[in-house]
Amino acid sequence: MSIEHVKCLIIGSGPAGYTAAVYASRANLEPVLYTGHEPGGQLMITTDVENYPGFPDGVQGPEMMELFQKQAARFGTDIRYSFISKVDFSGAPHKVWTEEGVEVHADTVIISTGASAKWLGLPNEKRLAESGGGVSACAVCDGFFYRGQEVAIVGAGDTAAEEALYLANLCTKVHMLVRRDEMRASKIMQQRVFKKENIIIHWNTETVDVLGKDTVTGVKVINNKTEEVSEIAVTGLFVAIGHKPNTDIFKDWLEMDETGYIITKADSSHTNIEGVFASGDAQDHVYRQAVTAAGTGCMAALDAERYLGNKGII
Ligand code: NDP
Repeated sequence: MSIEHVKCLIIGSGPAGYTAAVYASRANLEPVLYTGHEPGGQLMITTDVENYPGFPDGVQGPEMMELFQKQAARFGTDIRYSFISKVDFSGAPHKVWTEEGVEVHADTVIISTGASAKWLGLPNEKRLAESGGGVSACAVCDGFFYRGQEVAIVGAGDTAAEEALYLANLCTKVHMLVRRDEMRASKIMQQRVFKKENIIIHWNTETVDVLGKDTVTGVKVINNKTEEVSEIAVTGLFVAIGHKPNTDIFKDWLEMDETGYIITKADSSHTNIEGVFASGDAQDHVYRQAVTAAGTGCMAALDAERYLGNKGII
């Protein structure tokens, strides 16, 4: 069987991947885009997006991603609902494999694999998350199940603040577990959290474990100032402590920082490998916004187009 060869292969289907696809399609690069396991990426688990320019009344995350997808499809992007599980960037053409074992060769690869939620690593966290027993990393996805109940959320960034507010509208009480005596979240988000009467902030509080056999019954916490250990009775634990870039399959080939964010050359999307470009949250640990991801997706497609032109491929 002959191996398919494409000029431009895009991995990932968040704002970065789809923006790269729009630009690459319109430049006649005939891109093939692999969506990964979560088509649409992180915005699929977001409700209101109020800070993406062009939507003065805001837009729902999933609706926005449907629009991105439609726009890429309109210009002919070949969108494939499969996951790239292995790559070989040892030389041209670059080789990638889907998890079904299909090999594809590409002159250029645009990485826009995004980032995924981090977990605390508590003894019972994974078990109760995988069983749907009451541990979740996405309040917007799972909050509904905890209507009228008391829950806890770990974290103090914008995500934790946003999710605590979301949960406070559904739940009787939200215990926000903050490990320091201040929050990292933006001032406006903090103010909203402070104003909400049913959000109780536990400062200097670290989570020791989540309790419960089949379903969550509480969290065990320690105050890191007084070293006092206590338990809070809740039926759900939400973890909102940041994200990890989805870059494991590239680690043998690409330069990354210690957390796994791909390093791109200054003012470009170029990686250390010719013809491989990175965009979005896979390479950005600073801004991590839909609009910046889209911007770097555009950069990656323009860089890929120039690279293909310089090589005489297009
Ligand atoms: P952040 O990295 O900003 O925050 C992570 C939070 O989790 C920090 O408060 C951190 O505590 C805490 N944390 C990390 N590890 C642990 C742990 N083991 N135990 C307890 N707490 C822990 O991640 P976010 O996901 O909140 O935000 C990511 C980016 O996305 C940010 O730039 C943010 O501004 C942006 N964002 C913007 C939104 C908006 O504009 N509407 C909404 C959501 C996110 P500590 O502070 O002590 O390090």
